[in-house]
Amino acid sequence: MRNIELVVPPREPHFVGDGFRVHNFIPSAYRLDMKRMDPFIMLDYNSKFYFPPTDKPRGVSVHPHRGFETVTVAYKGKVAHHDSSGGGGVIDEGDVQWMTAASGLLHKEYHEENFSKQGGDFQMVQLWVNLPAKYKMSQPKYQGISNAQIDKYALDDNAGIIEVIAGEYMGMKGTASTFSPVHLMNAKLEQGGKAEFSFPAHFNTGLLVIDGSILVNGMETVPTDHFVLFENGDTRFSIKANEKAVVLVLSGGPLNEPIAAHGPFVMNTHQEIIQAIEDFNAGKFGYLEE
Ligand code: MN
Repeated sequence: MRNIELVVPPREPHFVGDGFRVHNFIPSAYRLDMKRMDPFIMLDYNSKFYFPPTDKPRGVSVHPHRGFETVTVAYKGKVAHHDSSGGGGVIDEGDVQWMTAASGLLHKEYHEENFSKQGGDFQMVQLWVNLPAKYKMSQPKYQGISNAQIDKYALDDNAGIIEVIAGEYMGMKGTASTFSPVHLMNAKLEQGGKAEFSFPAHFNTGLLVIDGSILVNGMETVPTDHFVLFENGDTRFSIKANEKAVVLVLSGGPLNEPIAAHGPFVMNTHQEIIQAIEDFNAGKFGYLEE
């Protein structure tokens, strides 16, 4: 059995732009650094938070990325994205946006207009997945994945479903394509519902309790908004919902490459970071209207 290494409570939230009130788990929480969590280099979690109505959508204005992928999973509320390579769309509750920044683009992330006007609960995860060195300078790519496009594995005993966003669960393949082995899934469990997971022993693996509370490996209760880091060295673990629960499960094969990170640029060497800054200043990331 894959034991729990650490249960991580949510850190003090901070605002990204004026639209995302996030708890950072990766890389700033104790032990959740980029090396330990490789290939996951960032996880910001906007726990459920009410935004009052406004005529001017809240969000993050135009900014660059290079060298990795940003994955946004929506649980409550709607987000509109636009990027300089032509990608974009609105993601609604249950949808996922998988944006491969790769060689670089500009994008902006805002609450969708009607959601902004009405106000409401907002809950999202943004996960950054590092790219292998050989893909860091490849073409940007955009996968807008609606909930209907995500295959759902029905668990036994009406325990609930597993939405397979990427990778594989019990032979069911995930919707998103990835550049290295990454498993990402939402377990949506009924009260008392149980699910088992098995990932290669060297894959860095964790989960985030989005809603409800769960019992992990039949032993430890983990409440809402807490992250569980699993030990490596074994494969299987189980979760059981103490009450109706939603759990984001992530597991990835480490790239084991050097990481040079500077804000929105994550490369392998310091020289590549300098190059990214120069290219950005020279306008090589394209153009996007504010
Ligand atoms: Mn961004």
